[in-house]
Amino acid sequence: MQVKILGSAAGGAFPQWNCACPNCRTLRAGKFPGKARSQTQVAVSADSHTWFLLGASPDLRVQIESNPELHPREGLRQSPIAGSVLLNADIDHVLGLLLLRELQPLRVYATEAIRRILSEDNSMFAMLQRVPGQLTWSDFEPRKTFPLLDPAGEDSGLRCRALSLGTHFPAYVSPLRRSELRPDDASLGLIVEAPSRKRLAYMPAVPQISGDLLREAESADVLLFDGTFWSGDELIRVQGSGQTVEQMGHVPVSSSLERLAQLKRPRRIYIHINNTNPMLNDAGPEYRQVRDAGWEIAEDGWQFEL
Ligand SMILES: [Zn+2]
Repeated sequence: MQVKILGSAAGGAFPQWNCACPNCRTLRAGKFPGKARSQTQVAVSADSHTWFLLGASPDLRVQIESNPELHPREGLRQSPIAGSVLLNADIDHVLGLLLLRELQPLRVYATEAIRRILSEDNSMFAMLQRVPGQLTWSDFEPRKTFPLLDPAGEDSGLRCRALSLGTHFPAYVSPLRRSELRPDDASLGLIVEAPSRKRLAYMPAVPQISGDLLREAESADVLLFDGTFWSGDELIRVQGSGQTVEQMGHVPVSSSLERLAQLKRPRRIYIHINNTNPMLNDAGPEYRQVRDAGWEIAEDGWQFEL
């Protein structure tokens, strides 16, 4: 299985359009010892021919153009992108689907709750179902293994299993809709198993670290983990007010470094990094601490094989 990291930043990217935090300001001035990043997007393929997206980033158009494997290969209208697996209904995780509206057949995997939020409450998503065979929704349930099939039903050889990580739906979901949905469907992590039986664990939004999560992470060969914020009060310190990062559904890196120190097996990579996170600075003490603990910090364009 090929795994490509097309984007590695949290919602808003780095730099973020309306942000003048020290990181964003210094990056714009060309003086930041670290890299700009687009909003998190991972793509996987068993044959380097047919690709599945994990989520659908708002930066998807540029990410596709920057990666030749994802360009059309045959005929006038074609794409190697066969579909997407959605792990939550956050705007920075699903907006990219609307950029794929040009009548391309796609298969989109989601929990019932995520599918209903997008397809029943957000009428723009009807643009993805204008003609028969355009977007095919496939529901999955947490804990049950499912194969990734292309829109024609052909098996990619990749196997997925989701685990429920959080019960909070995005703020735009109405209280009425929320009351009809299973909370366990709200926010998930994903295990993708390659034909080689090697496993990728993808957990970009983790509100708390459970024993279940630790077991799944330890069974993986590569772990892509929530690197959104460094500390609990990070946004409050930048903005002067607001929520703690725990209230926003993220374990800060300063905590997860400790909680996940016991992991032995997987290659450990932080992803979904917010522009305020001091570990983006390659010359800073936070970067050093993460690297010394054996973790890597994802950058756009990374690729590896499992
Ligand atoms: Zn910023």
